Parts: sequence; structure tokens; C-alpha cells
Amino acid sequence: MGGVLKSTPHFFVVRPMYTVKDIYRWLDEYAPFRYAQSWDQCGLQVGDPQFPVERVLVALDPSSAVIAEASERNCRCLVTHHPLIFQPLRAVRLDVFPGSVIGRAIRSGIHLIAAHTNLDAAKLGTNHQLSELLGLQNVQPLESEDVWREQEQYGGMGRTGVLPESMTVQDVMLLCERVLHARGVRMVGSPDRQVRTVAVCTGSGGGMLQQVIDSGVDVFITGDLKYHEAQRALEAGLALVDVGHFASERLIVEPLVNYLKARGQSKRKPLQVFAAKCERDPFAGHAGIWHYRESN
Ligand SMILES: [Zn+2]
Repeated sequence: MGGVLKSTPHFFVVRPMYTVKDIYRWLDEYAPFRYAQSWDQCGLQVGDPQFPVERVLVALDPSSAVIAEASERNCRCLVTHHPLIFQPLRAVRLDVFPGSVIGRAIRSGIHLIAAHTNLDAAKLGTNHQLSELLGLQNVQPLESEDVWREQEQYGGMGRTGVLPESMTVQDVMLLCERVLHARGVRMVGSPDRQVRTVAVCTGSGGGMLQQVIDSGVDVFITGDLKYHEAQRALEAGLALVDVGHFASERLIVEPLVNYLKARGQSKRKPLQVFAAKCERDPFAGHAGIWHYRESN
């Protein structure tokens, strides 16, 4: 009786630290990499899955400045929204981007994981955060893929929703400036027009313009819109608020920091996770200082 249990040696091999692979796995649970668009490049882009990690830096972009910050703060794992390697590489030239940054990451011992369109499509991803900050109600996917629709972590590409109360396009612009700490927000359409129904798409939303027009909402909040897209929206009677690419996506950094921190608590030495401090909207210049909220 109980012989099997008694004779089984019950010791556990506990690895003292987390590895890059653990961080990848947690990101995959938050925003499954299978949700990424077919043209996208996500996942571990530079580094070794088995490398031990004590400190992680989270940022929007894998820029030289961010790599330097990760190195200075002794964060051996860097998690970014934008990928570093996007087009297939034929060579890693250290004098040409992105080889220059790849080389810098390798020399600094930084292991880079990118969570891009998988994070846009995740239930708690970038579009969710934007909808939350705007206080949208009755939030629905703007577009969703049948294959993932029933999955718990899936939220779809873009969102539609309803503002808590009717407001002018000008007020929507001011709301965006306030909640996103954005400068230089642009709008298309009459500033005095009352709007209530909204579509959002973080990053460059121009590719979703037709779906937004078809959805019949009053205003589309996104980043990186082009002149001819603005003309198309005017023709369709759709108001636009362009908050800029940076402001529409930098908002995911804090939630990711908090999530990874919460996941990295089970070992003797808890994982330390930080938000990058050096990032600024490249379009904002000196006028657009993005106010980093210290959370670590
Ligand atoms: Zn983006």
C-alpha cells in the first residue's frame, strides 16, 4: 500500500531564475503569437530562449536608445511592441539598420521579444487599453477573424464603442490629448459636430478606414493617417482624430510591465520589470515631452 509513493524520490529541480523562454510563454498567454497578422514578425527576434533573466525592460520600440537603457539598467530581456526585424534579412551588416541595432543588442547581451499585431488583436492588448482610457462602453471588435473569435484572449483588430456622453469632435480631440498625454493631435471634419459612436485602431489605422466607414460610427480615433484617407473620410461624413502612432501605442507599456511583474513572482527572486524612460514621440520634438509615469 502506497509503495509507489514511498519509493518515489520526491525532490524537485528548481531553477533559480526565470529564462527568456518564460517571458515569451507569459506573453503568449497574454497575447497569443498566433494572433499576429501573416505579414508580421513577432516573437523572440534576437537572443537565446534559455538565457536566465532577472530584470526586464518594456518599451514601444527596439531603438538604439532603448537598447542602451536596457543595458544601463542591467535588463537582459527587452520586450517591445514594434519588431526590430521586419523584412527578411540577407545579411546582418553592423553599419546599416537594422543590423546596427541587432549588433548592439547582441553585444550588450540583450534578448529581444516583440509582441506586435498579436498584442493589437489580444483582448487586453493595445486596442483594449485605448478603449479603456477613452471610457468607451459597449466595446466590440471592429474586425475579428473567425478562427480565433471564440478564444478567451482574442479581442479582434480595432474596436468600436460608445462614448459615455455625446461630445464635439473638438472635445474628443481634447480627451485624447489628456488621456494619452498626446501633443499635436489632428482632426478631420467639423470641430463642432456632436459625436457619440467611435472606432479605434492603435498604430496606423488607415488600412481599416473602409471597415470603419462601413461600421457607420461617428468618429475614428487612430494614428498615422494620410491625406487621401482624410479626403475619403470627409466624403463619407466620418470624423477623424489622429493622435499619432506613438501616443496610440505607448499606452500598452505600463499594463505589460504590471502583467510581467505579476507573473514573475513564483521564484525565490521575483522578476523585476521596468518601463523604458527614454522613449519620446519622434514627431513631437521638444514641444511634445511624453510624461512618463514612474511605476517601478
Ligand atoms: Zn505600431
